[in-house]
Amino acid sequence: MSCKVPILTYHSIDDSGSVISIDPASFKDQMRFLKDFSFNVISLNEVVMHIRKRQPFVKNSIAITFDDGFKNVFLEAFPVLREYGFRATIFLTTNYCEKLNNWPDQPSFIKAQPLLSWTDIKEMCQSGIQFGAHTHNHPSLTKIPLMDAENEILLSRKIIEDQLQEEVKYFAYPYGDFNTNIVNIVSRSFTGACSTELAIANSKSDPYILERIDIFYIKSGMIFKSLLTPYVSCYLKCRRLLRDLRKRSFEKKLY
Ligand SMILES: [Zn+2]
Repeated sequence: MSCKVPILTYHSIDDSGSVISIDPASFKDQMRFLKDFSFNVISLNEVVMHIRKRQPFVKNSIAITFDDGFKNVFLEAFPVLREYGFRATIFLTTNYCEKLNNWPDQPSFIKAQPLLSWTDIKEMCQSGIQFGAHTHNHPSLTKIPLMDAENEILLSRKIIEDQLQEEVKYFAYPYGDFNTNIVNIVSRSFTGACSTELAIANSKSDPYILERIDIFYIKSGMIFKSLLTPYVSCYLKCRRLLRDLRKRSFEKKLY
């Protein structure tokens, strides 16, 4: 048994080399590695259930999430997940389903790409892929009025539930941006929520601020394959520190 459970965050599965992309061949290699080394790929439901019951995880447990709902997740990732019987959760930005990921706050260096259609989403849902809410328009939730933030959160949940006719239990904060008020809104309506706090989640994690590992930081095959070793825990701590320092100096320049 283990108290640790890495929750991986993917965005786009494409060859562009962008900060939110991983190429399809590397994605396949990573999934094959998880299969070959008997990783226990569990759903977010199982992650949160263990945390709430304060139960340790089965050794080598791991969870897979995708943010934004890119069309290429249906084309490139879904066949691999289905082949290996892996569970995963995809967080949708509902106002942009069937459109491009060109929401207002999207940095210009991120290439506009198609997002999932409701037909893709329904097909994946029938195969056991879970869908979560990621707001309606992908805003930074702490930078808009609280009532608008609440509407963004609840509307995205309602639209997915209406489309899929099943309860939406999980939420992911766009840009990992949240504060106490936002977490309070989310905790009234969802079973759990994913942040972008760069760390390995564990049995003491807050179910509404689940730590995740963005695949950007562990793209290298060697690091990915050492995921559950103390070496990677130290590496992630260093990366988190550097990221926080960069964020702080960027904010200083802004204000
Ligand atoms: Zn996002």
